[in-house]
Amino acid sequence: MRIVVKVGTSTLAHPTGRLNIQRMEKLCKVLSDLKNMGHEIILVSSGAIGMGVGKLSLPKRPEDMPTKQAAAAVGQCELMYTYDKLFAEYSHTVAQLLVTWEDFDHPHRLNNLQNTLERLLQLHAIPIINENDPVACEEYSLGDNDTLAAIVCRYIHADLLVLLSDIDGLYTANPHTHPEARLLPLVERITPEILALADGVGSSLGTGGMSTKLRAAQLVTELGADMVIANGSHPELLYDIAEGRPVGTRFAGRKEG
Ligand code: GLU
Repeated sequence: MRIVVKVGTSTLAHPTGRLNIQRMEKLCKVLSDLKNMGHEIILVSSGAIGMGVGKLSLPKRPEDMPTKQAAAAVGQCELMYTYDKLFAEYSHTVAQLLVTWEDFDHPHRLNNLQNTLERLLQLHAIPIINENDPVACEEYSLGDNDTLAAIVCRYIHADLLVLLSDIDGLYTANPHTHPEARLLPLVERITPEILALADGVGSSLGTGGMSTKLRAAQLVTELGADMVIANGSHPELLYDIAEGRPVGTRFAGRKEG
């Protein structure tokens, strides 16, 4: 299977913005193992801004563009350094791809990007994609990596997208404010009622929330692929997800006919 795994900042970093070492070690171990089983893995990783915040000892996630972009430039190095080191422990090679909206908007650039990704997979490397935050302009920014991951799935014909986040999946109501909320294990159709379950609340260091995840699910399931939202605190869940066992919330890809 060709699997795109998107990890949010809340999975990779502590609320301080500093690296969650244990989590990253587990994640890289499981992804390496899935690759050894024969799956193709593409990682869409957030965390550049969050980790820049930690590394530069900023008091909180910045709101102005220059500081945000400077934090991303610092944090992206930390992120790739860590991935490179951890995947190397399991003899895997990583590749960094930083993209902007324009790369998907220009057929020529898109074609190059697709070719590079395909070649990297043929060469058994693990592509790690993030938005090129230090140069992206606000009005043209992809904005969140849930959307970026869904777009990537489209152009590389992925079979499955997994969004690892700080929540277990989609609930019937916001579980932080409604203790009676139930987790929905399977969503077969994304109806207006399902879309209404998103409350748009994200973590303090990341960008996405449930609404960007549901938009990603719409995009991906229309292409016929499945999407799963699961809790990134337990990277081992990826084994069950790859086997199709019920974990988190699975959005079933539309099948023809
Ligand atoms: N590209 C941003 C970063 O690396 C993350 C965007 C998101 O959280 O979805 O910090």
